[in-house]
Amino acid sequence: AKALGKGRYAIFDQEMYAQTIHLSQLETDLRLAIERQEFLLNYQPIVSLKTRQVIGFEVLLRWQHPLTGLISPGDFIAIAEDTGLIEPIGEWVLREACQQLRTWQTKFPHASSLHLSINLSIRQIQQFDFIEKLARILAETSLNGENLRLELTETMLMDQGDKTIELLTQIKEQKIQLSIDDFGTGYSSLSYLHRFPIDTLKIDRSFVSLINAEGENCEIVKTIITLAHSLGMKAIAEGVETPHQVTHLSKLGCEAAQGYFFSKPLNLQLAESIIATNPQW
Ligand code: C2E
Ligand code: CA
Ligand code: CA
Ligand code: CA
Repeated sequence: AKALGKGRYAIFDQEMYAQTIHLSQLETDLRLAIERQEFLLNYQPIVSLKTRQVIGFEVLLRWQHPLTGLISPGDFIAIAEDTGLIEPIGEWVLREACQQLRTWQTKFPHASSLHLSINLSIRQIQQFDFIEKLARILAETSLNGENLRLELTETMLMDQGDKTIELLTQIKEQKIQLSIDDFGTGYSSLSYLHRFPIDTLKIDRSFVSLINAEGENCEIVKTIITLAHSLGMKAIAEGVETPHQVTHLSKLGCEAAQGYFFSKPLNLQLAESIIATNPQW
């Protein structure tokens, strides 16, 4: 940035701007981002390890900032949570994803069982009217909850004890599926886990990435898959990057996987072309 005097700056270097962008500026920009329609969704395919076809997508938020360009959630979700802005942003994500899924169901009848998996933040589920909001969005988009999956982290679940079970039960009443994200990285009380109406454990990338070509270091992944199955849940491996990982995860009975081996998160058009062509990996 080059000073023009009197606190005015011309931006010459995006990276420099990104480094020097003031936190309060980021917050101001974040406040305006919804009305300026700067958010967009990317979709990462989730592949069945049995049929090797796409069974759904994880919805990943992106922010197209007018000056700095595309910002990934890692750089703004924390601020959004601290400022409470995650509530309207999270609601936007939910509505947008539900609308998109409904559109795809109409456009691609062969993909009627396709699901979208949406990340939630703790602040969102702590809203007193979260369940009503969720029901309203489903009604407004005429979407059946069956094709929707919500991702929560262990910390979010363990935080609130019995209140959590009540909340999750209310979500399940709308037929929505529930996943535990980044499983194995937070703290989970195993004695609690079976009381939650969870459908899927998502095995964190840090464990999947340990699996090498020889199939060594599978122990943690194997343990999580066994745990999932013994609790009547399914397992999804995250961050799958190599063919060996696919082979070993399949052998261990992991139901599904996502990661760069199959596909990076895709924009709307690319996600649609995947649905249309229904490739087998
Ligand atoms: P996450 O839920 O664990 O999402 C997976 C992250 O891993 C994504 O990063 C994805 O792009 C990346 N990834 C996927 N496959 C691979 C792989 O094979 N290798 C590697 N190295 N990375 C892979 P992304 O999109 O930057 O999202 C980061 C985090 O931001 C997400 O982690 C999630 O916790 C959060 N997030 C994203 N969208 C939302 C949202 O709509 N709401 C909330 N509350 N959080 C969100
Ligand atoms: Ca996730
Ligand atoms: Ca994850
Ligand atoms: Ca994560």
